Amino acid sequence: EAKSAGRGRFALHSQHTAKAAQSRLEIERGLHHAIDRHEFSVVYQMRISATDGLPTGMEALLRWNHPELGLVPPSEFIPAAEHTGQIVEIGEWVLRQACMQHGSWRAEGMDPGIMAVNISGVQFRQADLVQRIQAILVETGMKASELELELTESMLASNPDTAVTVMKDLRQLGIGLAIDDFGTGYSSLSYLKSFPASRIKIDKSFVRDIDINREDAAIASAIVALAQSLNIEVTAEGVETSGQLAHLSELECTDYQGYFFAKPLAPSEVRKSLRLTARAQGRHAA
Ligand code: C2E
Ligand code: MG
Ligand code: MG
Ligand code: MG
Repeated sequence: EAKSAGRGRFALHSQHTAKAAQSRLEIERGLHHAIDRHEFSVVYQMRISATDGLPTGMEALLRWNHPELGLVPPSEFIPAAEHTGQIVEIGEWVLRQACMQHGSWRAEGMDPGIMAVNISGVQFRQADLVQRIQAILVETGMKASELELELTESMLASNPDTAVTVMKDLRQLGIGLAIDDFGTGYSSLSYLKSFPASRIKIDKSFVRDIDINREDAAIASAIVALAQSLNIEVTAEGVETSGQLAHLSELECTDYQGYFFAKPLAPSEVRKSLRLTARAQGRHAA
């Protein structure tokens, strides 16, 4: 009885595994055509200043609408694209798209602020990364000072000396560098000071229970203090509720990002929001 139940479970499990493997294969195959078939799009999530509530910029987030699978989450297809190496081409497509979009909003007289783009570890390890990024800035007319690249601790920790060199070159160009998902990696605080980052993003896992969990609140507070002592900006990610915000407002974050303020939005929606902000600011100035 127990044995057959066990076998039943195993059968179920292997079915799941087979299904997962099949969809992984489908994802890897599908990624090959995704750019050409216009299946990718970029959405933008606004960041809000902690001091005046105005937008300070936005993060570009990639979306993939697969013809059969539907909307595939980045957590599923980014690792696949990293595995096959396609993330290099895809990542550059996102960067170019975000810079072009920023430029067209600028051309319409709006101020999109800082445009933040996620960079994969695979991209970061390319020997000619800095030249590739510089070429995209030139091609799109994007100002380096309006671009920020989001890196993760684990990318930096695997080869810190090279990471520092690449980061210095990017900072030299005037590009901002954020350490994303901060607190979830294993980097030691002592060598954080040798990374020339301009921003830390407090991972949303510490924000989630900040109003009910003392440990999470203590970690968030320590990260803010760390950012202040390094004289860099600090963004709290994943702000969803007014309770979380009330707690965060006791710390000195530079800005906030999360569903409480804005979901990641299609360009047409961001445009409306930028227009509203411009109008409100115009009223203030008048
Ligand atoms: P991330 O860079 O940490 O991006 C923030 C993620 O948190 C986004 O998920 C965003 O939609 C989500 N988020 C924002 N506000 C909230 C909130 O209030 N609550 C919750 N629970 N979540 C919130 P998304 O778009 O699914 O992206 C997931 C991850 O995929 C990103 O995490 C990033 O690591 C990666 N990713 C997305 N686009 C790209 C890309 O163009 N290139 C690379 N290399 N990675 C990307
Ligand atoms: Mg990010
Ligand atoms: Mg993050
Ligand atoms: Mg992330």
